[in-house]
Amino acid sequence: MRKLALHWQILLGMVLGVLFAFLLVQFDWGKQFIVDWIKPFGNIFINLLKLIAVPLILGSLIKGVSDLKDISKLSKMGGRTIGLYIMTTVLAVSIGLAVVNIIKPGNFISEDTRNELLTNFAGDATSKIEAANKQNEAGPLQALEDIVPSNIFKSATDNGSMLQVIFFALFFGVSMILIPEKTSKPVKDFFDGFNEIILKMIDLIMLAAPVGVFALLSSLVAESPSADLFKALGMYGISVLIGLALMIGVYLLIVKILAKKSPSFFLNGIAPAQLLAFSTSSSAATLPVTMERVVDNLGVDDEVASFVLPIGATINMDGTSLYQAVAAVFIAQAFGMDLTLGAQLGIIVTATLASIGSAAVPGAGMVMLVIVLAQAGIPEAGLALIFAIDRPLDMCRTTVNVTGDAAVSMVVAKSVDKLE
Ligand code: ASP
Repeated sequence: MRKLALHWQILLGMVLGVLFAFLLVQFDWGKQFIVDWIKPFGNIFINLLKLIAVPLILGSLIKGVSDLKDISKLSKMGGRTIGLYIMTTVLAVSIGLAVVNIIKPGNFISEDTRNELLTNFAGDATSKIEAANKQNEAGPLQALEDIVPSNIFKSATDNGSMLQVIFFALFFGVSMILIPEKTSKPVKDFFDGFNEIILKMIDLIMLAAPVGVFALLSSLVAESPSADLFKALGMYGISVLIGLALMIGVYLLIVKILAKKSPSFFLNGIAPAQLLAFSTSSSAATLPVTMERVVDNLGVDDEVASFVLPIGATINMDGTSLYQAVAAVFIAQAFGMDLTLGAQLGIIVTATLASIGSAAVPGAGMVMLVIVLAQAGIPEAGLALIFAIDRPLDMCRTTVNVTGDAAVSMVVAKSVDKLE
């Protein structure tokens, strides 16, 4: 029997997971059964992916930088990567603003519904609001200060920061280029081998992906809030989705025009990473697979992918920035506020920065949204309004985040003649 391709297996896992949950919640014991017996397998799968993320970023960036061998090559590629990342993010925010101003989803919310949502979800949202307020109280240079770790082992832990790990890896890699090759060779060989082993671990973890996404999706369906609330927020959700779909269109154009590859080639190659991003809501957890697909299926040289993608997973979140723009304006509309052009231009700047600062984990974009709200003078309590459907939107925006990283890696590879 021919083996089903991985993305079909994952898709099948997702569909079966949803159907299974719908079936089981019909019974009294169904929801508890899923929580007790199915959800843990989803958590194990996510843990495995997270487990591999730090070693992968460390290994691949050190290898990526040291493979470049000279500093001029590094700064050329680095400049293009960051430039493209910022450009696509600003474009995404602009698309989000255009869509939300045309559809005006906030005007669809009646006073009653709004009050009901605010009371129902105020409790859940409080912790998010508190976390976000802490971010907001920081000084202007706090973000810069946070990039430089004082202890790399702390950065690599659960509450640590990927940006700090990236900083260390780049610093280490650059220093490696600067010493004579004879001295650095053993360390370079070590990291080359280390990287190979990590990639093998990812291969093995991915064998469990269909089962993992089955468990993730069935527990998500079993635990979601009532359908009534979904309806009230429908127009807002649709606005985000239209924006995200347009952004995918932009990537296809970019790939076609700048990397000279066909859209179907790109989509076929990247599909498993997209499906995984959708099921895990985490760009960091998806990174191993994004990396594998981009190198093996899209023809991007290893040297480029291992530099561009880990940075992208951490700072390039086009889907998140687009969502933040739509959500901010939606909340303003729901509260009956009129945002000036100046305020909307301000959103372009803050949403770009907030998406760069968002961690690549589920729900991070919503926490950082508070910065955008505060800057534009929109009431933060509005978070309670969008809380109910944040998870499904998170799944979709993460898919776009990952797609954007892959598209940019192809363009950068093409520009330095490293695209097959
Ligand atoms: N979950 C998103 C990601 O990992 C971040 C977010 O928007 O919450 O890319």
